[in-house]
Formats: sequence, structure tokens, C-alpha cells
Amino acid sequence: MKTTGDLQLLRRINRSVLLRLMLVSPGLSRARLASMSGLTKSTVSGLVRELIDEHWLVESDSTVAAQGMGRPSTPLHVESSTRVLIGIEIAVECLRLVCVTIQGKIISQTEAPLTNRQPQRVCTQVAKMVQKLFKQLQSDGLLLCGVGICLPGAINDESGIVRLAPNLEWRNVAFLPMIAEAFCAAGLPATQIHLQNDADAAALSEYEFGTFDGEDPLIFINCDVGVGAGIVLNDRLFTGSVGTAGEIGHTILQINGPLCSCGRNGCAETFIGSRFLRKKADVQAAGQYLGVLIQNLDAMFNPRVLVLGGRSCVNNPSLVETARHTLLTYAQGAGLPAPQVRPARYGLQAAAVGAAALVLHRFLRPMLLGASIESTTGKPTAQVAKPSTPPVRQPRPAPESPHVLRH
Ligand SMILES: [Zn+2]
Repeated sequence: MKTTGDLQLLRRINRSVLLRLMLVSPGLSRARLASMSGLTKSTVSGLVRELIDEHWLVESDSTVAAQGMGRPSTPLHVESSTRVLIGIEIAVECLRLVCVTIQGKIISQTEAPLTNRQPQRVCTQVAKMVQKLFKQLQSDGLLLCGVGICLPGAINDESGIVRLAPNLEWRNVAFLPMIAEAFCAAGLPATQIHLQNDADAAALSEYEFGTFDGEDPLIFINCDVGVGAGIVLNDRLFTGSVGTAGEIGHTILQINGPLCSCGRNGCAETFIGSRFLRKKADVQAAGQYLGVLIQNLDAMFNPRVLVLGGRSCVNNPSLVETARHTLLTYAQGAGLPAPQVRPARYGLQAAAVGAAALVLHRFLRPMLLGASIESTTGKPTAQVAKPSTPPVRQPRPAPESPHVLRH
């Protein structure tokens, strides 16, 4: 059997380890990076040079005196003003497009009504919006790292196929080749395009652009037209075997309850979905049902953080408060601590910002399997990008510094 290595992949892994360390601990020197990453000083020095040249890192103007006889060191920081990420949310009624820095600062945002839900037409509309934004980025001298797209449907991480997006009426749509072709037709330069479910993406908006203090497991509950959960578990998204994990909108909260769009009765969506809430407007009751739903998620996943977002929560802050109180009451009854419950940091932009975060998430984890495609300036390559080796465990930090990655 022939066994080969992949030096290119190894280099990408090592670069991602350094970048993750820098995102968690700004101001590190090359020597500290070497000791924390377990890489040799010369490897770190070479990779840091590359990362500076490519505008990922920047050197501080001042040096820091070394302890003892050593040479003074130069603190490094993540370059926050040149590299940007584009995130797009294909929602049921609109398209949201954001451009953010690699530290999650929104520098532009646009929203447009969805003119036609037919997949090909959606791709054309998205490509036009990206083209307009890209021209602006070019004139501002910004560098695009990639494009993330999310939508309200189940996406298979291996094939990249949208299995089912009921509210868009899509079934088995090979979306990635279609969007790559639309980007090409719009004259956009070659770029990496990633795809994820909307609630999963929203979870990444909190996880990647958060406080870096190990908020894992983290669950984002997206209460919009549909209700879904994005689950970050062990530093990656937990999407299930075919991408349908987290479809909590159709868990039953009441036997013989109201009829749901899925044909069942008493689903969570019939109590906390934005359409139902708009009709009934019983926010107090909806908050209690949401509290029951997150109590059940707490029992299943024992998360550190539960983030409540989507239109129902953003437009009704008291819904979040009631849900938090309900969960707390259940936790006290069981004599257990309740996880932190908080509203979405990016409000209605959570999924779009999360789609942008997806680009960074995949870049920082080169071994991760995920739905993505490289668009080209010529004929697009119609295939789903996969890592060159089977998805195994993520690279971990050196044993002496277990706190540096978010486990
Ligand atoms: Zn249902």
C-alpha cells in the first residue's frame, strides 16, 4: 500500500494553529507562539512571515523587553482592517448580505426582498448583490477571504446537496455548482464558497466572534418562520448524519396542539414561530413554551450557553426573559445549575454574520469536512471540496497550553 503525506495540508494546519492562538491571545511574540503551538521557532518564524505578507497578522510598532538576557520581542496581532468575509442569508422572504472583518465587526450590510424562490433565480440575485459589494471592497482596497451562504434547510455536509428546505420549497437541490456558475457569470473572481444551514451558521456567529472563553457546547435557537437549533459541540457543528440535527421546530410540545405546517399537531413552531406569534401575539405563553424547549435541550446537551435569536426573539425581548425564567425554574426544581441564556449578539443579522463566520471556521480547521466549492473565473469546477484525508480529530494545542483552543 502506498502511503503519502500532504505537506500543503500540514502547512495549512500549522498556519491555522498560529492564527487561532493569535485570535485567542493577541500580542503574542514568535517565541511564545512557538512554545504554545509546539512548533519549532524557525517554522513559526516562516509561517508568521507568510501570515504578515498575506495581511492576516501585523507586527506591533513597539517591542517588549525580554526577561533576563534574551532579545526584546515584537508582539503580533491579528490584522483587523484588510481581510474581510462575506456572509449571505437566504431567508424565506429576503436576502441578507453582510461584510465583516475576521474579528466579526460588520462593515456593511444589505437586505433585499427575495424576488423569486426558484434556486437558479436565487443564485442570480445573490451573485448580483455580491458583485456590487465586491466592487466596493476592491475600491476600498480590502481582501476577500471567501463567501459563506446559509439557508433554512437541511444540507448534507458530505455532498453539499440541500436535502430539504420546506419554506423555500426546495428538495435535493445541488446548490453549490449552481451558485459557483452564477458567480462566474457575474464576473466575480475565483473564491471559496461555503454552505450551511441558517441556524448552524447563526451558532457560528456567536462561537467564532465571541469571547473565546470556551463557550462549548453552545446552542443557538433560531425562532423565525421556522424554528431550528445550531449546535456547536467539541469545537465543530453537530449536524447529524444527513444534516437534519437541530430541527427542533417539529418536536412536540403539546399533545393534540395546533396543526403545524408539517402536518403534525402541537409542534414547537406552532407556539414560537414568527408567523404564529404574529397571529396570536401571546408572548407570555410563547416564552414559556420556548422555556420548555430550551429545558429539553439543556437535558439533552448540557450546554454552557443557549442563545435565543430569530425574529420572534429579536422583536419580542420579553420572550427571551420569560424563557430564561422558565428554564431557571426547571433547573432549580432539579437542583442543577442552568446554562447561560442570552439574546443573539447580532440580532436579525445573526445568520448572515454566521455565514461569514463559516468561512473563518472552515479556514481555521483545514481537516473539517463541509459543503464548499471553489468558484472560478472560467468554467466552475462542479464538485464539493473535501479534505484530502478522512476527517479525524482536530489539531490540538500543545499539552502545556490546553486553554488556547476553545475546548
Ligand atoms: Zn411541525
